[in-house]
Amino acid sequence: MKLILLGAPGAGKGTVAKMLTEMDGSVQISTGDILRGAVQAGTELGKQAQAYMNAGDLVPDELIMGIMEKRLQEPDCEKGFLLDGFPRTIPQAEALNVLLDKLGIKLDMAVNIDVPRDVILDRLTTRRTCSNPDCQAIYNVKSNPPKVEGVCDKCGSPVVQREDETEEAISHRLETYNEKTAPLIGFYENEGLCVTVSATNSEDVINAIKERLAA
Ligand code: AMP
Repeated sequence: MKLILLGAPGAGKGTVAKMLTEMDGSVQISTGDILRGAVQAGTELGKQAQAYMNAGDLVPDELIMGIMEKRLQEPDCEKGFLLDGFPRTIPQAEALNVLLDKLGIKLDMAVNIDVPRDVILDRLTTRRTCSNPDCQAIYNVKSNPPKVEGVCDKCGSPVVQREDETEEAISHRLETYNEKTAPLIGFYENEGLCVTVSATNSEDVINAIKERLAA
């Protein structure tokens, strides 16, 4: 499947993407994970992105399109992909359309995961993430803690609170989402691709996606 996952930070895009990869071998492509990996590795991309990310601002579109142009041409994308956290702006969505046309790829759907703001705020302040850039497993101190406190179940690396998950950065990220990313819902509605799923439980989101794909 070839899907875009839309939704505010904390809507569950990453969790849903990880669950969907197990269905048909599609790969999760998270620009946030790629950028965090680059920051940790100290690459040129990481150096350019870090200040924007820590402040909860969007990284410039040119950097993101550079990442995606390469990533979508890697062979593991042939079975399908789940775009998690990309596109984030109308110019990114327009550039993605051009890129997909060039590569001869057609999207199945853009899924808008719609979760109430109070649930989002609670999730983001209690979310913890594996610090290993190749793992980045997601935990929650209340609903899904690691078996050993502060240690990733999957790879044993420290589980940490992301630097952009302080209260100040979270509220800025939500403002940025409303201003820059929420308009993508209308963009993909116009393309006849947008499906909104109002559900706080990832299983319910997956079931709604399966139903739509089968229809
Ligand atoms: P995420 O893990 O998707 O919440 O992304 C974390 C941070 O990475 C965001 O707050 C942005 O600073 C940056 N980022 C991730 N994806 C994008 C994107 N598509 N466009 C611009 N910035 C992005």
